Amino acid sequence: MARSPQVAVVGGGIVGLSTAYALVEQGVAVRLYEAGLPGGGQSAGESRIFRHAHDDPRLVAFVRESRAVWADWAERFGVELVSPDGALAIGDSALERLHVLEQVGGVAARTIAPDELADRMPLLATYAGPAMFDEAGGAIRTRAAIEALTAALGDAVATAEVISIDPREDGTVEVRSVTDRATYSTVVVCAGRETARLARSVGLSLPVRLAAHVRLTFAVKGTAPARVACLQDGSGDFGEVGVYATPMPGNARYAVGLSQTVGVRDDGTFIDAAALRSLDERARAYVARALPGLDPQPVEFVHCWVTDLPWSEDGVAVWEAGPVLFVAGHNLFKQAPSLGRALARAATGGGLAAELMPQARLGEPQQ
Ligand SMILES: Cc1cc2nc3c(=O)[nH]c(=O)nc-3n(C[C@H](O)[C@H](O)[C@H](O)COP(=O)(O)OP(=O)(O)OC[C@H]3O[C@@H](n4cnc5c(N)ncnc54)[C@H](O)[C@@H]3O)c2cc1C
Repeated sequence: MARSPQVAVVGGGIVGLSTAYALVEQGVAVRLYEAGLPGGGQSAGESRIFRHAHDDPRLVAFVRESRAVWADWAERFGVELVSPDGALAIGDSALERLHVLEQVGGVAARTIAPDELADRMPLLATYAGPAMFDEAGGAIRTRAAIEALTAALGDAVATAEVISIDPREDGTVEVRSVTDRATYSTVVVCAGRETARLARSVGLSLPVRLAAHVRLTFAVKGTAPARVACLQDGSGDFGEVGVYATPMPGNARYAVGLSQTVGVRDDGTFIDAAALRSLDERARAYVARALPGLDPQPVEFVHCWVTDLPWSEDGVAVWEAGPVLFVAGHNLFKQAPSLGRALARAATGGGLAAELMPQARLGEPQQ
């Protein structure tokens, strides 16, 4: 006889799917509520960067663990989930982060000379400054990951918006969705932009900063390169100091975005609607200067909400309100597998890892 679900997960982005899958791996009955299509929120699009380089050594260790899970899933699901072409970072900040990687250990990363850089990143203009190569980094095959996890969860995925989360005096939690009412022992909220709103309904105020972001995709001129790495450009040599770029499956298209975001009010209205256009124009201008291997006319756009925490653009934390857990942060795709496992442990009585508690400020640059 099928067991009724003990744990509910709210949100079918990469974090919610990873959490639900980790619960299934533990043999826990789970229901995942997704209001729209799995992977249609902040997890949308075809590519993300997997990189080990971060300012906080604890986060480096956390994503290193995550990389092992990505490899395990790729084998289990029989699909490529992270490209084999690595991740590059250029500029002085790359060397600072390489130092953090060396402190932590266990990550195959090194400085790289201009010739090898040009070979691994044939779309980039001539560059002879400091550069680092992360061998086990690469482009996350986001769509393949969302599809594989959704298929593995099968009937556990319910297409319904959660309307209310109500912790009861008997220690259970009542969840009301558009189409039903059910009771769970624990609820894990991974609702992206909606997480802070749902947290307010149980009396928690999360320090999430809402912003908007644009990423553009460009076609490669001529034949797609056989290999092409992801890129983070902090050099300033091409007129911008915070740029990230990642290939799409097949390498014929390459996505580029400025790390900068555009501030919005709490209700999502823009303070300055033209600011998003300005980011878009700067990204095109950057491509014309730095990436001569691309046609500078964009072929696709991803617009999305960013929900970051005040201590770092890579910050992540989990808040607990009795049997309800809320996760928030930014740049979570790469670490979703280890985050999902940590949330599944916390949801089943194993306790929340100390590093994920808000006071730990995971992701904050360490001295
Ligand atoms: C353009 C862009 C580039 C990025 N680059 C990188 C990168 O290179 N590397 C990296 O690691 N990360 C990157 N990120 C960040 C990363 O994609 C996100 O942090 C991650 O996808 C967030 O996943 P999530 O599951 O937390 O949220 P989401 O994907 O937003 O999922 C939340 C889900 O909850 C659902 N939901 C909300 N409310 C309810 C409700 N009441 N009931 C039911 N369902 C609900 C939504 O429909 C949504 O599907 C990037 C993000 C963007 C947009």
